[in-house]
Amino acid sequence: MPTSTRPDLLFPAEPSQRALARELYALVGQLPIISPHGHVDPALLAEDQPFPDPSRLLIVPDHYLTRMLLSQGVPPAELGVPTRDGSPVETDGRRIWRRFAEHWHLFRGTPSRLWLEQTFTKVFDIDTRLSPQTADEVYDALAAKLAGPDFRPRALFERFNIEVLATTESPLDDLGQHAKLAADGWGGPGGRVVTTFRPDDVVDLEFEDWSANVDRLGEITGEDTGTYAGYLAALRSRREAFITAGATSSDHGHRTARTLDLGANAAAVFDRARRGRAEPGDSEAFGAHMLLEFARMSLDDGLVMQLHPGAVRNHNRWLYARHGRDVGGDIPQVTEYVHALAPLLDAYGNDPRLRVVLYTLDEDTFTRELAPLAGGYAALLLGAPWWFLDSPEVLRRFRETVTETAGFYNTAGFVDDTRAFCSIPVRHDVARRVDAGFLARLVAEHRLPMDEAAETIVDLAYRLPKQVFKFGERQP
Ligand SMILES: [Zn+2]
Repeated sequence: MPTSTRPDLLFPAEPSQRALARELYALVGQLPIISPHGHVDPALLAEDQPFPDPSRLLIVPDHYLTRMLLSQGVPPAELGVPTRDGSPVETDGRRIWRRFAEHWHLFRGTPSRLWLEQTFTKVFDIDTRLSPQTADEVYDALAAKLAGPDFRPRALFERFNIEVLATTESPLDDLGQHAKLAADGWGGPGGRVVTTFRPDDVVDLEFEDWSANVDRLGEITGEDTGTYAGYLAALRSRREAFITAGATSSDHGHRTARTLDLGANAAAVFDRARRGRAEPGDSEAFGAHMLLEFARMSLDDGLVMQLHPGAVRNHNRWLYARHGRDVGGDIPQVTEYVHALAPLLDAYGNDPRLRVVLYTLDEDTFTRELAPLAGGYAALLLGAPWWFLDSPEVLRRFRETVTETAGFYNTAGFVDDTRAFCSIPVRHDVARRVDAGFLARLVAEHRLPMDEAAETIVDLAYRLPKQVFKFGERQP
């Protein structure tokens, strides 16, 4: 069967549930996309230049793909992944593509295969099944499409029917690309492309160049970041600048979900770290304390807080040494939420003005910790399965493990969290199909009437993310 004609993709195999899933999916398949969190480079849309060759678009930047080949002994340099020291890597797009196609069987049963196949068929209208034999044919077809004006980033944005896309920037970013987008009518508050405040590089004491970054934060804002009070003032000032550029949320990538109020000791820890004399435990304590500070800032300025804990960054040290961050060397770890979040929840958990969206890389916490927390605190919502968990099987298990305790309305809607612009419509489509299948089962088991399932699926696909992330009622 050609990959494009799979109308029942991911729907239940049982015929009566499949029929219900079709009906439910029909209500959301064409709805606009709300993408509240991701890592698309804003320059892509600000500059609207043609994409490079198929390999540089689809393979080189996709760490899901390059890490799988690495796991079978193919070094990332052979797939064109840049090196830190500038030593040479493969630059021929066609050679990269052929090498990738030779290993395509590795992706059987993975979401990467599903996303890429659906990208070929739905975005590029190419039905040829990828294999070592068809590698050149698929590459040439993709390259031909990419050369045309219909495949410029802004044209694709329109075709994908994206209503809002949030990118993610450091407080040290000058937001110049977002200013250009605003000048073109694409950005700014209520715009189609907005930013997200992600302060990890000025908060995590173990971040390379943390102290230099804090100096820079002072230069950008005119605040004295030699003092803790000046540091907080500088962060508040950057948050205001981000809000002016359209941001509605902040994002915090910590190793753990730990929160802590250091009180007056926060300034002492900050001073030690600024003098290069941080003590063991300072880094985790300071990060935990800053989550409370950011919650306080959120109460004032209204930014929704997203918390992304649980990744051991750069676990593959060889990979990090050669190719740097975010190239597939991170590994999830056990993550605890109940005790970790208690200080934050004691302080602000019942305040409906605060909105914290929790993500996890530890699936075991869905039933035991996250659903009970989100089902009992006004400030908490559950984010969609993220990264290693962004897959049809886990999206399904997420609904199965969370709904009975937290319901649907303590979840925040699907988040693609992707760097891969062309995969955005595909990923949202997968989530909508899985939700249609889950709701179809509830209907078939007489646990939910069809009209309420119909309302729910539209809420999950569109209304909830828009409301949770404060994208307002603006229509495209
Ligand atoms: Zn992210």
